[in-house]
Amino acid sequence: MSNNVLAQFSNINLSAVPEKLDSILNANRKQLNTLLTQPSFNWDNLLAPIEEMDDQLSQFWSPISHLNAVVNSPELRGVYHQCLPKLSEYASEIGQNETFFNAIKSIADSDAFQQLDKAQQQVIHHALRDFKLAGVALSPENKKQFRELVKQLSQLTTQFEDNVLDASQGWVKHITDQSELSGIPEHGIRTAAEVAKQKNKSGWIFTLEIPSYLAVIMHADSRALRETMYRAYTTRASDQGPNAGHWDNSQVMQNILQKRLSLAQLLNFNNYAERSLATKMVRQTQHVLDFLQKLVDASLSRAREEYQALKAYAQSELGLETLAAWDISYVSEKLREQRYNISEEELRPYFPLPKVLSGLFQIVKQLFNINIKPVDGFDRWHDDVRCYAVYNSDDSLIAHFYLDLYARENKRGGAWMDDCRIRRKRLSGDIQTPIAFLTCNFSAPINDASALLTHSEVVTLFHEFGHSLQHMLTKIDYADVSGINGIPWDAVEVASQFLENWAWEKESIALISEHYKTHEPLPDELYQRMHRAKNFQAAMMMLRQLEFSLFDFKLHLAFDPKQSNQVQKTLDEIRNTLSVIPVPEFNRFQHSFSHIFAGGYAAGYYSYKWAEVMAADAFSLFKEKGIFDRSTSQKFLETILASGGAYEPLELFIAFRGREPKIDALLKQEGIQQSA
Ligand code: ZN
Repeated sequence: MSNNVLAQFSNINLSAVPEKLDSILNANRKQLNTLLTQPSFNWDNLLAPIEEMDDQLSQFWSPISHLNAVVNSPELRGVYHQCLPKLSEYASEIGQNETFFNAIKSIADSDAFQQLDKAQQQVIHHALRDFKLAGVALSPENKKQFRELVKQLSQLTTQFEDNVLDASQGWVKHITDQSELSGIPEHGIRTAAEVAKQKNKSGWIFTLEIPSYLAVIMHADSRALRETMYRAYTTRASDQGPNAGHWDNSQVMQNILQKRLSLAQLLNFNNYAERSLATKMVRQTQHVLDFLQKLVDASLSRAREEYQALKAYAQSELGLETLAAWDISYVSEKLREQRYNISEEELRPYFPLPKVLSGLFQIVKQLFNINIKPVDGFDRWHDDVRCYAVYNSDDSLIAHFYLDLYARENKRGGAWMDDCRIRRKRLSGDIQTPIAFLTCNFSAPINDASALLTHSEVVTLFHEFGHSLQHMLTKIDYADVSGINGIPWDAVEVASQFLENWAWEKESIALISEHYKTHEPLPDELYQRMHRAKNFQAAMMMLRQLEFSLFDFKLHLAFDPKQSNQVQKTLDEIRNTLSVIPVPEFNRFQHSFSHIFAGGYAAGYYSYKWAEVMAADAFSLFKEKGIFDRSTSQKFLETILASGGAYEPLELFIAFRGREPKIDALLKQEGIQQSA
């Protein structure tokens, strides 16, 4: 018997899902109403049973929502769309339930509140805050309007994401003339041949999936081919490019922004940026702008120098008089090779996936004293999926995670961690262990060989594994603040960016690298070259992220539905002040910027940089004490990883580091500011 059985994916009867969901929601409504008729309220008679009820709903929905993202199909999409309004209606209804709000408030005001532990108190603080943000205090008419907006937003953001997926799959480049492949690495060519074969075509097919796109944009000698791919990629889901007008997100973005603004205004915020900060670590919009500006000021002149060097190199070595947008990655790659004698492709043979994984597991074992073992015979949604169990040093089960690492059709792009199940204490008293979904889009192995990762893919894997660790190693018993739940969004990237460092250190690289043929670890000489190249164009990269962050934040801060074309204008204005690379007029990057239009990063993309400061500063302690120093890693585990959302992130950071984070730590890590 096991009360920690894994989730089911393959035998979900899709047509029955909407009805099943209705019955769960109705049962929950009924239970809530019954609970609210009690004469007085406390944790055990209200919050504990509600948590169990919420958990059953999320365990029902989580696999469906996950499948929609990774094995999308028309049927699944239809069911998903049918269910979304039900879920958003239900969430709004709960969030606006005044009786429920007052019941929780009575617990907060009672003497018993002081007897609750910190995590429970945080659950209650968050709940009261979230009721207000769900419009509990609004007039009945405004409540209705609010609910309508929430429902429309959930549909619009899903439509945005669907458009990006369809547009990404709605275009391919079919090549039959081998000479066009010049410069593209062997690995990219073989993958393209494989795709062509699957589609019963001769030659090679390049797609807009990221490994395929990068193979061309970074390496193809044919400038025309690079331009073709660049145009298709940067105009996805827009009014421009080869599929102009198909799956166009222009109006969808406008509607999303307008509804977000209305929603914020109903809650008495001036704009959606203020609304976003209501749940974040940074509380003032001006602080976000000041923080980003500080990084711009620190990086701009260095970035200009980097770009000038690139331009000069393109002219003198490659005979390119002007640098077009589709030349930047290609020329950068050539310059990197010339300057550091290193290329991503040269490293790939040293990072076969099985070795990277076993090394990663070894690293987290050394750091956090956990053992990771593969699970056999589990139910999966695709043959590529793997499942692992995480154990304590005393062999007690802590968690599970699923790995789904390869790009394929009908799978959303990018990399992410999502929770399949959260750690919590059940009403029965036993602990429900957490389960994570870790999803990436690496190029799939060809035939029976192991997948060979680029080093940046290795870094991505470590990033997502950092999120997974915070989800899995939590010691909190209450779902709302366990794992990554309850962590302000601008602190949630700390654990992930923190773990990336182990993909760069010599000691840890020795554990994750092994030539797939000779089985030798990455030679020291190659490691030194790779490490010297680490901060290549760091300031340009920093500015790119700052451009995205400022665009997102200013757009949500100043959006005015009466202005036309504000999305493009905001982006152009920001680019004018800080972009060092040319961006063609047809570029519609924003039309596929899912983080802010479909994900949770609206007026919150700055979070990456904000958290990166904390991650870099946390890691600087490991640089002092040793990257495998057990007492330092133990402290990191006990503070940031294990206590997640139950405490304020600044409090946890100070508990770990002994002081507040310093911005210099990031600038030094990126080589933008020299160490004193
Ligand atoms: Zn992340």
